[in-house]
Amino acid sequence: MENIENQDFKQIGSKLLDWYKKNARDLPFRQTKDPYKIWICEIVFQQTRISQGLNHYNNFVKRFPDVKTLAEAPEDEVLLYWKGLGYYSRAINIHKAAQQIMTDYYGVFPHDYEEILKLKGIGKYTAAAVSSICFDSKMPAVDGNFYRVLSRIFADDFDISNSRAFNYFSELAQLVLPENVGDFNQAMMDLGSEICKPKNPLCHECPLNQDCLAFQLNKVSEFPVKTKKVKAADLDLKYYFVHRNGQFLIQQRKDDFIWKKLFEFPPEISEELMPFIKSVKNVNHKLTHKNLSIEIFNVEVDSESVWEDFIIKNQYIITDFEGSHEKSFPKPLENYIQNYHTAYRIL
Ligand code: SF4
Repeated sequence: MENIENQDFKQIGSKLLDWYKKNARDLPFRQTKDPYKIWICEIVFQQTRISQGLNHYNNFVKRFPDVKTLAEAPEDEVLLYWKGLGYYSRAINIHKAAQQIMTDYYGVFPHDYEEILKLKGIGKYTAAAVSSICFDSKMPAVDGNFYRVLSRIFADDFDISNSRAFNYFSELAQLVLPENVGDFNQAMMDLGSEICKPKNPLCHECPLNQDCLAFQLNKVSEFPVKTKKVKAADLDLKYYFVHRNGQFLIQQRKDDFIWKKLFEFPPEISEELMPFIKSVKNVNHKLTHKNLSIEIFNVEVDSESVWEDFIIKNQYIITDFEGSHEKSFPKPLENYIQNYHTAYRIL
C-alpha cells in the first residue's frame, strides 16, 4: 500500500484520464463539443440512466438540433418530446434558456462559466460540465459522483447532505484536477456510474484502487457519509376521468407545485355528474419528495346535456386516445388512459 499522505494527488487525476482514454463510453454526445448538445445531454441524464434516456436524447436533438429551433418551438411540443423523461420543469427551463440565448446572447451559446450560469435552469454542475467540455474551463463538475468518489478516495467523512458539501468537495477536487478538466469531468461521470457505484463498487477493477484510502482501509461501505434524510411528504389527490363515447376531458395544470404544465383530468366534478360514477381506482405513486395516493373516479356520462353543460361551465378540453398522444400527462394518468383505451377497444 502506498502511503497516501506522501502521494502527489495530481497523479490521481492523471490515472483517471489514462483510464478514461481506454474506457470512455462510446456515446453520441462524446463525438461533439457543441455546447447546445452537451447542455441537453447533461439535463437529460441528470436523473436518467444513459440506457433509458438515449433514445429520448437522440429524438430531442433530432427535432431541435440547435438553440434557434428549440427557442422557436411551441412549449407544448417541447414537453411532448420530453415525454417519458419526467421532471418536466427541466424541459420548460431548457426552452426558456434557449429563448434567453437568442435574446441576450444573439443566439450564440455563452462560453464563460459565469455567463452559462445565468441561463434559466442551469446550475453550477451543468455550467461547469458545459464550460469545461466545450470551452476548456477549469471548473470541476461536482455532483453526486464526485461526492462519492472523492469521499472514498480520501476516506473523508464530510456529510454530503450538509449545505456546504458542494463547496467542500469542489475544493477537495482541486487537489486531483489535471490540466484537461473537461475529460476529467467526463471520466468522473463514467467512473461513478460504471466502477465506483453507490452499491457494490468494482474496486478490483478501479484504476484508483491503489490511491483510494477507503479501499485500502477496507471501509468503502462507510463512504460517503450522509446523515440527513429528507422524509417524503404524503399527498392525497382525486381525479375524475369524465368520458363519453371514447372522448374524455382534460385541462393543463396551472400550479407548479408538482407536474408543472402537464395535462390532468378534472380534479372535481359537479353534483349532476355524481350519479355517473362507475368505479374508482386507487394508485400510489412516488415522486422525489412526495408519496402520492391518487383516487381516479371513472365517470361515464350517458347524458349528452349533462356532458355539454359540464364542459361549458368548466372549459375543459375534449380529447380522445389519439389526441392524448399529443399531450404530456403525469405517469399515473397516462397509465390510466392506456388501460382505459385497452378496455374500450375490447368492449
Ligand atoms: S477503489 Fe473502490 S471505492 Fe475507491 S474509488 Fe475505486 S471503486 Fe471507488
